[in-house]
Amino acid sequence: MFPEVPAGPLQIRISRSSPGRYALHEFAKNVYDVQITNGAGRALAASRPNLHQWDVEGHDGTVRVRYRIFGDRVDGTYLGIDASHAHINAPAALFWARGLDHRPARITFERPAGRSWNVATQLFPTADPLTFTAPTLQYLLDSPMEFGPGVIETFKAPMADGDASDAPTIRVALHHAGTSADVAPFVDGVRRIVEQARRVFGEYPAFENRTYTFLADYLPWASGDGMEHRNSTVISSRAALADSRIDLLGTVSHEFFHAWNVERIRPRTLEPFNFEDANVSGELWLAEGVTSYYDDLLMARGGLIELPALLSDLTGVVSYVMLSPATRFRSAEDMSRLAPFVDAASWIDRTNWPNTYISYYIHGATLGLGLDFAIREKTGSRKSLDDVMRVLWVRHGKPGGKEVGYVDNPYVAADVTAAIAEVSGDQMWAADLMKRHVQGHEVMDYRRLVGLAGLNLKPRFPGRATLGVQTEPSPGGLRISGPTRIGSAGYKAGLDQDDILKTVNGQAVGTGEQLDAVLRARKPGDTVKVTFFQRGQDVVADAVLDEDPRFDLVAAESVGGTLSDAQKSFRQSWLAGR
Ligand SMILES: [Zn+2]
Repeated sequence: MFPEVPAGPLQIRISRSSPGRYALHEFAKNVYDVQITNGAGRALAASRPNLHQWDVEGHDGTVRVRYRIFGDRVDGTYLGIDASHAHINAPAALFWARGLDHRPARITFERPAGRSWNVATQLFPTADPLTFTAPTLQYLLDSPMEFGPGVIETFKAPMADGDASDAPTIRVALHHAGTSADVAPFVDGVRRIVEQARRVFGEYPAFENRTYTFLADYLPWASGDGMEHRNSTVISSRAALADSRIDLLGTVSHEFFHAWNVERIRPRTLEPFNFEDANVSGELWLAEGVTSYYDDLLMARGGLIELPALLSDLTGVVSYVMLSPATRFRSAEDMSRLAPFVDAASWIDRTNWPNTYISYYIHGATLGLGLDFAIREKTGSRKSLDDVMRVLWVRHGKPGGKEVGYVDNPYVAADVTAAIAEVSGDQMWAADLMKRHVQGHEVMDYRRLVGLAGLNLKPRFPGRATLGVQTEPSPGGLRISGPTRIGSAGYKAGLDQDDILKTVNGQAVGTGEQLDAVLRARKPGDTVKVTFFQRGQDVVADAVLDEDPRFDLVAAESVGGTLSDAQKSFRQSWLAGR
């Protein structure tokens, strides 16, 4: 219900996008049976200027809207209502009205008959346990709600000085299909992550109501997701705590880091969030990617994963960036701006992403590692990326906003350069790093940088010859199952997606094993004759075989090396967070 509506038409909307998501999700598609009345209960006509809007005229200062909405997806974006709970992401569920952004809102839940459900949410509590308020529309739409039978575990956030009297409260609202024995080890992991995140920034954000809430749904009917909000996060998965605790904590780590980085250290491009369109930002390499760099690092610092697991995660991102041709075509900022095309967006036409795009999560996590190591090298390990995050926190996050749900001092790219300059003490150096590696196309020298911590990039398949194409068995041979990578042996030989590779050096290749056997007998640099079927034609071509370029990031001592004292202390301060 909208009371005290100003004279004239009221434009009622449902969102097209959701905070933390960058593409359009078009929540109007699930709305039906909309009935609009005035304060006296008389039906009001509404015109429909577009798919997301109802323009209501002739009201008496009160507009009441009743609607039904369908939702069957439990994650951080959509709506999932079933016999087990009501899992509500606000933009997917709530109508709102244009021009009333700065009004408070009130929400009251009604328990279904026979259910003793409770609500977990960052919305402001009231005396009635089923009624909540939000001071502004931005805060309301940023507030997911879990209405169900889950348990809520609570602890005081660990403080640097051990004095918990003014510590924020951390709530872990857990709706899961496991046993109560699964809960304590998970909550212990959450506590370790909370503490490690605070150590990066030096303090906790001033959470509204001094409370941060994890809304965890680990249910066989949930979809995997993690979605950050100002004072809460939705973390959902079909995996179970009993066998996937560490994986699930990885998402906890990512989302909690966002309580600083993106929720409060916020790029200007996302402030305020636009519920009427896609949200485009050139800074997602930092907001998302650097958050991804830290999620694993905090797990390691908190003793939840060991070095080999951390290095295996880093291998995934560093090798993707180093082996991708896409950095030639797009900078980290360009990749970030593509989010509305790739963030849970789907198309029926094909794209060439493997050649022209790298996820800002991957690209940004790799840059996080590179910037961290470069700053440590530059300052003799006296400073690190942690210090840059702190500078950004103090300048852009901590000052907060005059109104709840807003950030008054969001950052732009130049502010990131300024923070690196302050920490490194070298303005030219900072500007050069950003220009070459974030705004430009140059990949950082990861091979050299990781060496500072006694880490090596070790070839995974040394000396192994490859065509560098992905294939799958198909009638008549092997189908090329994705765009061929620019520069690879297969690409140079003219192979393309959907071609059927028939023979290599006269030998039929009907399975991956057969192709491997033929290539195993050859060396990188050898020329082989390939035949393939392409768009209705048989083609014969020569291919000069590549060496399999894949590698692993490993500790030098695990492959027979020894660390210098400098490498030992570099690695120690990186892993300890100094
Ligand atoms: Zn994220």
